[in-house]
Amino acid sequence: MPFQDILSQLFNSILLTEKQLDIILTYMHNCGMLLWYKNDKDLRPYIFYHIPTVTSLLQVLFTHDDTVWQHRLSAFSGSTSAVQQLLTLDEYRSLSEKFASTGIMHHKLFEHLLRTETDFVESPAIKIAAELLQSFRIIYCSTLQNGENAFIVPYFCKKYLSDSLPSTGDFVTFHAQLRFDGLPLPQYAYHQLAVDMLNSFSQESKSITARNNGARVVNKNVTYQLVHDYKSGIVNIRVSFDPSQVCKAWEVLVDITNSSIKYVETRWCACKIGCKFFCPHCGLQEDTHPSRLMNPSWVQYHDKRLMSSLLPSEAKHFTCKKDPSVPECLLNPISSLSEEQKEDLSKFLSKYEKAIPEEKAQVESDAESDLSDHEDFYLPGEEQQIKMEVSATRKAEIKRLFYSNQVTMYKFLAYVQFGQH
Ligand SMILES: [Zn+2]
Repeated sequence: MPFQDILSQLFNSILLTEKQLDIILTYMHNCGMLLWYKNDKDLRPYIFYHIPTVTSLLQVLFTHDDTVWQHRLSAFSGSTSAVQQLLTLDEYRSLSEKFASTGIMHHKLFEHLLRTETDFVESPAIKIAAELLQSFRIIYCSTLQNGENAFIVPYFCKKYLSDSLPSTGDFVTFHAQLRFDGLPLPQYAYHQLAVDMLNSFSQESKSITARNNGARVVNKNVTYQLVHDYKSGIVNIRVSFDPSQVCKAWEVLVDITNSSIKYVETRWCACKIGCKFFCPHCGLQEDTHPSRLMNPSWVQYHDKRLMSSLLPSEAKHFTCKKDPSVPECLLNPISSLSEEQKEDLSKFLSKYEKAIPEEKAQVESDAESDLSDHEDFYLPGEEQQIKMEVSATRKAEIKRLFYSNQVTMYKFLAYVQFGQH
């Protein structure tokens, strides 16, 4: 029921101000007597006084069992022509198969399921249902190539996204990594982060890929993706860009990272979040131990959001430990570039391009490095402690080195003992 309707009805019977109604509805929402999302600007106008209406909507999408789809199919083929007006049996079959493998639900299938299984029957109600699912970060509303609408639920896609962005021309890549510690985040929260990125930051793009483990948005000069792995509690946010778009790329990286942090922080209070930013220059070098900064000052945690902003001198400044000449604009956010900075950047990148072939030949692969890459995460409250784990080497040539030393030592001891007698 719309908020305004209730307010005007109550105005007729008892005198109630909007503020008083707000208090009453908040109380009823907190008691579980109704649902009112007053802090969500899209959902605030609606009051769901019959809660099963909302749960039945969620049930339509979250049916993991194949038998449910088989049951739906047999119910569809045996149903009246009124039900089949929207879809033919063949269409129904192909659209439901498409959803089960790609997570893309055609709007006709969406409408059909809502009409047959929920209270969202009329077109305005179906529109509200879509808004509700978008606000819950379960679906992303997309326009297909033929201009028709579809809803994407990445959770149901059987394909996976590569964790690295395809390299294009002279593009540079920013990489921020979020790690969720503390009470483990449920798997669906990771899916919500990918949907949140699509819902909030993909308006200008024509090319969107949603997969089981994340989503990618491709634009002409700036491409970005969020890939998650709930088992390790890690989310990688990468922004690949033409060097002329470095300011825009920073904006995208900072927005997506902070939006993800805010979403998790405000809903999962027992989750501890850490953020690592990797040097893009080291990324270009394909260095397996890139220079990195833990919890950079542009990352906004809840406690920091409440504090007044840090003075520039207090803010953590990032410099690449491997190459001090990396331009400032690749390491710390910048909103505009001076002509001089533009020149520096293109000079640095062009110098670097020429250097790749010879450097690549010299760099020894340390893919089997024994320093654990995941153990040096630390949280904002414990910034001084860097955790590092050292384990036994797996490199044969290093093992051999120690082994041969031992043999020499024993031989030497035997010689000494022999000499004493
Ligand atoms: Zn570097």
